[in-house]
Amino acid sequence: MTEPTLLLPAGNIDTFKTALRFGADAVYCGMNQFSLRAQADNFDDRLLGDAIEMAHGLKKTVHITLNIFARNADRQNMLRAASRARDLGANALIVSDLGMIAEIARQVPGIDIHVSTQANITNATTARIYHDLGAVRFVAARELSLSELEEMTRELEDVIEVETFIHGAECMSYSGRCMLSAAMVGRSANRGDCAQPCRWSYALVERKRPEEQWEIVETPKGNAILSAHDLCMIEHMPRLMKSGIACFKVEGRMKNELYVATVGLAYRRVMDACKNGTVTDDLIRECRAETDKVSHRAYDTGFYFGHPAEPGMAAGTQQSAEFVARVLEVSGKVALLEMRNRFFVGDHLEAITPEGIRPFPVEDIRLDATGEHVDVVNVPLCRVQVPYTGTLAAGDLIRGPVRNRANT
Ligand code: SF4
Repeated sequence: MTEPTLLLPAGNIDTFKTALRFGADAVYCGMNQFSLRAQADNFDDRLLGDAIEMAHGLKKTVHITLNIFARNADRQNMLRAASRARDLGANALIVSDLGMIAEIARQVPGIDIHVSTQANITNATTARIYHDLGAVRFVAARELSLSELEEMTRELEDVIEVETFIHGAECMSYSGRCMLSAAMVGRSANRGDCAQPCRWSYALVERKRPEEQWEIVETPKGNAILSAHDLCMIEHMPRLMKSGIACFKVEGRMKNELYVATVGLAYRRVMDACKNGTVTDDLIRECRAETDKVSHRAYDTGFYFGHPAEPGMAAGTQQSAEFVARVLEVSGKVALLEMRNRFFVGDHLEAITPEGIRPFPVEDIRLDATGEHVDVVNVPLCRVQVPYTGTLAAGDLIRGPVRNRANT
């Protein structure tokens, strides 16, 4: 059995680099077309080629999402996109559409095909058929329990690899097949353009009095009666690591660098400890607490142990840390930072590095452009120098208290 790998998301080149730095064995991202995240920055060919080269230099792989359901007019362009991804060196394509899987396997040899979770594979017979069409891996439907996944993985050993989501946002519809956004605002989730109306707040209206609305109160914050919880399986990684599942996937191509770094590092540490036989309850508790720091809805374990919590109990998001700055360079005992959210002299911030979390006290701030000392940095992307005596490197991130965004 090969070692299970960790697959992290990237919506742009910054999160791509962060994913590589903070634990990914593989990164998935979209090209400019045909990826189910039309609102992400995504990657043009030049950027994608650079990103792939960077990943391969670190012996990591890149998976490209081509997972819309194709219309007739999409087919030739999708095949061209598949060829471009292969020619740029991508390792795998994540595809949902049955016909396109068969056509890509036939017309674009030389790149692996992974079946997207959107294809809703829920049994080993279906997985074998996708394998016969040319797929080497499938992302299991989110509705499967852990026991079902373990059984399928055993049955499919030496046939096709299994990948499963372990963390991130979930849809209240079946494996993400959802018409809400298309019906309500004309933006199709199945074309990568979901407006997330399941996260909106709704009121009750009686047909004969359409002008009157009654509040539906779930929590003091309001309601989100269609909103699913976020998935978090970190406490169950010891069992998952023994399941034969080839790859564990984190959702979130719209997430920022701090999210990818925090979640990536937490799962990396637990997965490595499971491999080395050093995993402890304390480590899992510590890493679980890290996942609480990034913006998320209430967590649950999805369908892994039966039915998840009812939608509607996940009104709003919460987080206890905010992305403050990116480390651009370290020279001697001075860190050059690029600001994301404001911070002050006297702040006790934290540096998130691949080796772990370190205190980052702010004793002085100097504007990089002029050398002027300032008490606060409040211009996004402003570059500043901050003295630091610990170990830090370019690509590390600085986080601090939530000041700029209320938990909702
Ligand atoms: S509206 Fe909500 S449930 Fe539907 S696809 Fe979008 S995020 Fe998923």
